[in-house]
Amino acid sequence: MKVINEPLSVKTHKRNEMIDITADVADIVAKSGIDIGMVTVFCPHTTAAVTINENTDPDVTHDILLTLEELIPHLRKGYRHNEGNSDAHVKSSLFGVSQTVYIQNGGLKLGTWQAIYFCEFDGPRHRNVHLSIFG
Ligand code: ZN
Repeated sequence: MKVINEPLSVKTHKRNEMIDITADVADIVAKSGIDIGMVTVFCPHTTAAVTINENTDPDVTHDILLTLEELIPHLRKGYRHNEGNSDAHVKSSLFGVSQTVYIQNGGLKLGTWQAIYFCEFDGPRHRNVHLSIFG
């Protein structure tokens, strides 16, 4: 088995944002030369996440962020963490910091409507993503 680790930088522009990184991940996978296997997309941050969802209709990510804002408000009575970003920590844990996607014929085996998103919950910032490609 071959394992290739590659970094990916993501620049975020808003406090809460979902950035489609599918093309970047697909490009790195294609360059890895691994035809069949899997790629893990891991975000080493406690106020960000990685998820998979629809990228055809931009209203979907809008509605996801709107729902998160309503369920997990930025400021809320009872938060103790003094950085003022408790909501971002909660969202990160709910979404999770990694996703695994299968690789077939050197490409990502995602569903028709699926895309990989880097989720920023305490931006704007420069963020890192670690890709581990196994094949
Ligand atoms: Zn914090």
